[in-house]
Amino acid sequence: MQLTAIDRCDACGARAYVRVELESGSLLFCGHHANQHLEKIAPTAKNVIDERSKLTEESTN
Ligand SMILES: [Zn+2]
Repeated sequence: MQLTAIDRCDACGARAYVRVELESGSLLFCGHHANQHLEKIAPTAKNVIDERSKLTEESTN
């Protein structure tokens, strides 16, 4: 599953570039919050979709 422009960071509402799939559901993070939280959350995640590589292509929100 890919992230789209309507996916928004759960922490700040910016466009999400990372989806973390957990047992209880999924979390979305922008690049900034992924950098802050992903390291802590990733070990408990079932799957992580990381599209931060796209951040360099689109800098607008
Ligand atoms: Zn954010």
